[in-house]
Amino acid sequence: MIVILKQGITPQEKDKVRSFLSEKGFIVKEIVGQQDTILGAVGKVSLDPRTVELLPGVSSVVPISKPYKLASRELKKEDTIVRVGKVSIGGNRVAVIAGPCAVENYDQIMTIAESVRESGAVMLRGGAFKPRTSPYAFQGLGEEGLKLLKKAGDAFDMPITSEVVSPSDVKMMAEYVDMFQIGARNMQNFELLKEVGKTGMPVLLKRGLSATIEEWLMAAEYLMASGTDQVVLCERGIRTYEKATRNTLDCSAIPVVQKLTHLPVIGDPSHATGIRDMVAPMSLAIVASGASGIIVEVHNAPEKALSDGPQSLYPSQFRKLVHDIQALCPVVGKSLERVPRTEKTSSEGKAEAKKNDTSSITVAFQGVRGAFSELAVRRAFDDSVSVLPCHNFADAFDAVSSGNAKYAVLPVENTLGGTIYDNLDLLAMHPELTVVGEVQVRIQHDLIVMPGTRIDEIKKVYSHPQGLKQCKAFLDKELPDAERVPFFDTAGAAEFVAGAKDKTIAAIAGAPAAAFYGLESLRSSIESDASNYTRFYIIAREENAAVYRSQAPLDKAAISFSVSDESGSLMKVLSLLADKGVNMTKLESRPIPGKPWEYLFFVELQLPQDDVFSALCEEMKENTVTFRVLGLYTSVIE
Ligand code: PEP
Ligand code: MN
Repeated sequence: MIVILKQGITPQEKDKVRSFLSEKGFIVKEIVGQQDTILGAVGKVSLDPRTVELLPGVSSVVPISKPYKLASRELKKEDTIVRVGKVSIGGNRVAVIAGPCAVENYDQIMTIAESVRESGAVMLRGGAFKPRTSPYAFQGLGEEGLKLLKKAGDAFDMPITSEVVSPSDVKMMAEYVDMFQIGARNMQNFELLKEVGKTGMPVLLKRGLSATIEEWLMAAEYLMASGTDQVVLCERGIRTYEKATRNTLDCSAIPVVQKLTHLPVIGDPSHATGIRDMVAPMSLAIVASGASGIIVEVHNAPEKALSDGPQSLYPSQFRKLVHDIQALCPVVGKSLERVPRTEKTSSEGKAEAKKNDTSSITVAFQGVRGAFSELAVRRAFDDSVSVLPCHNFADAFDAVSSGNAKYAVLPVENTLGGTIYDNLDLLAMHPELTVVGEVQVRIQHDLIVMPGTRIDEIKKVYSHPQGLKQCKAFLDKELPDAERVPFFDTAGAAEFVAGAKDKTIAAIAGAPAAAFYGLESLRSSIESDASNYTRFYIIAREENAAVYRSQAPLDKAAISFSVSDESGSLMKVLSLLADKGVNMTKLESRPIPGKPWEYLFFVELQLPQDDVFSALCEEMKENTVTFRVLGLYTSVIE
């Protein structure tokens, strides 16, 4: 049952309710939601809900209708984010877990670990106990395999996951793995589930070969009832009559499961298909279906792999796949989970360790709460960072400069509107700041109203002029008579509607603004052009740059320079790029304040090898009047 507590409940009253329920034999979990604090009480006992409802501090008691209780969305509305070391699985992130089917030897696991980490994997997989269909097939290296997997995980700073097949191995395995994997064949091995659940550690729970969604969630319930709340579900294909692929990937299970449970769900395209060429398209299908990640098999020499070679990706295929996933992420409102590498001995490492406590990080953005810029902050950082909404772009730069915020996330370009010059100009005025990253957000506009409003009640629509323009076709068709009122900001328009509590007005803004101001999205994605993306720079003071930048590989640079007023001077500088085979991805010119008719050029380029870039910078300095590297960062899309 769900025990909803009164807002003003005292700590003593809450303790009394808890002990009352525990004494009756319930497992009690406190869940602090956005609106209410609740106690979830589950167990074998039955109790008249009215006896709980009468306790001081209790507002109401609601039964949970589903057979799975702790795993149910009824109990917990907010998404659970499972933390495995520094990796977050769930929420608006897509985490990529990769590695071989089985750990085979030291060189194999080290080579694969290095390459998948370099390509963007945040966790390493590798079986040490392999449940094989044939007793004569390779059964895994056992504990020795776990030792090698841990070595590789430590060396390349990735938490590790490996399958546990026997309750008697759980204690031993807990010494090595960061997340247990329960394989498809063991999904209903209840003794194993109980033993693993007792550790309280994160668990990756594969869906059984012929398990219904409800059976799968009941297996999760076993884990949770035994003591862990860190469960990640994994759709890995089910047995059907179809023989063309090893299993049939049940993509529709992903959104279904997400409705039923707060637990994150990821997909395994390797075991679902069993065929290398099918792994990349199915990975994209998994992400498009709304999953929080993928677990994929990669091998440096798949033709020699001791198990599952035919479905293992080559490292180069994996690298491309991560790029494609990264490109897809903004379409589904997510971003790729990236975890900085920790150099344990360096001072940078210490700074990074501190960074793990992201609640102490403040990130500035321009706009009011719920703005697209805040969404960009959430994409670039962990959800736990504090945000500092700023009135204008200059205030956001000043906040970072003065140390009031560690980072700022500022728009620099929109695919429809072009460059946001103000931010390039401000960057030029702040030599103490540098670009450390970029992030991309898909701009999707909703028609946002007071809850319960009908479309025919709307007389006025408020939004930023860009928002009104981008939704013109919708407004012409659906609200031809409504007055269109320009507002300073899209989320600001939503805030205004919430404040006015007026059903005759609507705002055009992003869905996060509707959620933040307690409004309703009456129509979603009403923009005419679906390819509407805004790219943001993440800026920091130089001393904080290394921490963010360590999300290698860095592959882009932004520079600015001015040239002398003579024939061919710009051409000469740009030809330096061409001579070195460096690809320029953006060029802008801006007037230099106080120097009429002189220009500052902004260039973004694909970062070449270190030595080529330093030589290029030297030569550019010689051929320019002013020259500055604005920042090195990791591009959002290649
Ligand atoms: C595995 O991940 O190596 C594995 C055996 O997967 P499944 O349990 O999904 O078959
Ligand atoms: Mn396998």
